[in-house]
Formats: sequence, structure tokens, C-alpha cells
Amino acid sequence: MSYDIALIPGDGIGPTVVDAAMPLLHAAAAAHGFDIETTRYDWGTERYLNEGAMMPDDGLDTLASHDAILLGAVGHPDVPDHITLNGLLLPIRKGFDQSICKRPAILFDGVDSPLKGYEGGDIDILVFRENTEGEYADVGGREHRGFANEVAVQSAVYTRRGTERIVRAAFDAATERSGHLTNVTKSNAQAHGMVFWDDIVDEVSEEYPDVEVERLLVDAASMDFIRRPHEFDVVVCSNLFGDILTDIGAIVTGSMGLAPSANIDPGNDHPSMFEPVHGSAFDITGEGVANPLATVLSGSMLLDNLGEETAATALWDAVSEQLADSDAPRTPDLGGDSTTDAVAADLEERL
Ligand code: ATP
Ligand code: MG
Repeated sequence: MSYDIALIPGDGIGPTVVDAAMPLLHAAAAAHGFDIETTRYDWGTERYLNEGAMMPDDGLDTLASHDAILLGAVGHPDVPDHITLNGLLLPIRKGFDQSICKRPAILFDGVDSPLKGYEGGDIDILVFRENTEGEYADVGGREHRGFANEVAVQSAVYTRRGTERIVRAAFDAATERSGHLTNVTKSNAQAHGMVFWDDIVDEVSEEYPDVEVERLLVDAASMDFIRRPHEFDVVVCSNLFGDILTDIGAIVTGSMGLAPSANIDPGNDHPSMFEPVHGSAFDITGEGVANPLATVLSGSMLLDNLGEETAATALWDAVSEQLADSDAPRTPDLGGDSTTDAVAADLEERL
């Protein structure tokens, strides 16, 4: 068996973490009897600055033939985010119908949380973020600034199809886990989209009588991600709220450098994309100290999505074992003084 993976290392620390993670995916594959072939696409801000576009016009067609995509990070301090987002990340997520964004926030054994009293094992949240519509939808020209630049309009779109997909995925995960699902909205202030969303959660919940649903407004949820993160299990929310909550989740579990994510096409018609939650982090680019573990864990989610569960688990367990070992190398974001490469080399030995 051989899988064909597209690599988009991207900007800033993206290439560093992808180059550190890929040998580990190859090692996990070799140990479990399958091959990985990769094709590297040097798309990103450098291409934009030289050629005027983050990726080629036929970029999606090129990616479509691959089994999965591993992305590092995109973004550049000199280029506005809307160019980097709309030029690469969002077209892939939307074009490939990657409507499910899965983001675990786990406090691993051996990792310090900035929260008082929390230890490894105390936090294990799985956020399902709707990934292709909601507050990030593009409703073709409705959005605008007008009235002599004194007014701007920005809409959000929730479709039954998109909302049902993310909600079902979350209920499925809650069924496999503890049977508890937190639905995060802002229904008291956004009476159309978010009430529609709540209605769909209620409808779908009838198919899952064993899952207990808790409703929280996003302001309360943000507070509770810090006040009582141990009480969350599966969380489902819209695109914007998921974006924000998963940054909180990443930081309360020790570092942005540990948070993985999966952008999944539930219909499986297109390749899914895996990427660390963190961005291009130009403040540490080129220093060789970026934490590669978020990308390695994203790689584990990629293998799992391809159906290679044992290889995925081996990779995940190697990370978890390394973090639990107080003698193992750590990058500075985790309080250590080791390099990206030293962390990756230690993982390869564990594998
Ligand atoms: P974006 O605009 O996409 O959010 P960013 O450049 O602001 O990207 P973030 O991912 O938000 O970067 O990260 C915030 C900070 O966290 C970074 O500036 C960096 O100091 C730290 N950080 C992020 N990822 C890592 C990593 N893999 N290893 C070490 N530190 C990291
Ligand atoms: Mg940021």
C-alpha cells in the first residue's frame, strides 16, 4: 500500500516543522508496512510576492489527485492576512468541502499548563469547528463597505447541510467518547443563524439519545475553557467561535506548538488537510527552535484518516511518551532549550 501526500510547507516556521515531521511519518509507515510518497508544493507568501498569487490557478486540480495534504503554516508580517487566507487556506478548505475541523486540546503528562492546579491528563477536549461557512462564508458581493466608507457589511451563512455535517460528526465523536457534548453558540444575540444552528443540534440529538448536550454561549464558554477546562469533552461550534476557542484550548494545554488539527471532507470525495493550529510565527522563524510536535500530531491524525490507525497511534504515543520523559529534549516554548531537530531525532528513536 502506498499513499500519495501533498506537502505545502508554506511560510515562516511552516517548512521547519513539516521537514521535521515528515521523516517520522515515513518511519511510522515503514514500521507498519506501507509507503508514503510526497510531492512538495512551494506555495505561500514568497510565491505571492514574486508572482502575485499564493498558489497557481489550477492549484486545487493539482492537489485533488493526492490522498491527503500536510500543511505547515501560511502568513507573513508584511502581507495582510486576508490575502494569505483567501489565497490558499480558505480555497482549499472550501474547494475540497473540508467542512469538519477537528482540533484536540490535550494537556499531556509532563507538560505544564499556565492554569493553577492542572496536571497532565486533566484536560482532554475535542473541538469540532465548522470549517467552510458561518462567519467566514463569502456570500458573493453582499459583503461591502459603502456609504462613503462609513459602513461595512459582513454576513454569516449557516446551511442545513453544513450545520448537520459538523453537528453529526460531533455527536458521533461524543458517542465514542464520554457521551457529553457542549454546543457553543451566541443564540441570545444572533437570532437567525445561531438559533437555526441550535434547532439543528436539537433535531440531530434525537438520533443520539445517549449523548447529553450542554448549551453554552461563547462568552461563557471562553471563560469556562480557562475556569473549568477539565469538564469539557466534545465541543461543537461555528467557524469563528471554533477559531477562537481552539487558540484558548492550545494555550491552556501548554503551547501553541502542541496543538494539531484536521480539516476533513466528510464525503471523502477530496483529500483532507492536516495542519498545526499555530501560524507562521515569524518571531522565531529561522532560529531552529519551532516546536514540531503540533505538526507530528497532525501527521498522526492524517495517518488515522487514511485508515492506518496503528501507525497513527504509534506516532501519537511516541509524542506522548517524549513529553512525559523529563530528560527528553524540549523546545523553548515548553521551557526547554532544544532545537526542532533534536526533538524530532529523539522521536525517531522512540518510534
Ligand atoms: P497567525 O497569524 O496564523 O495566528 P502567528 O504568526 O500569529 O500566526 P501563532 O500561531 O498565532 O503565530 O503563534 C503565536 C506565538 O506562539 C508565535 O508568535 C510564537 O511565538 C508561538 N508559537 C506558535 N507556534 C509555535 C511553535 N510551533 N513552536 C514554538 N512557538 C510557537
Ligand atoms: Mg496568531
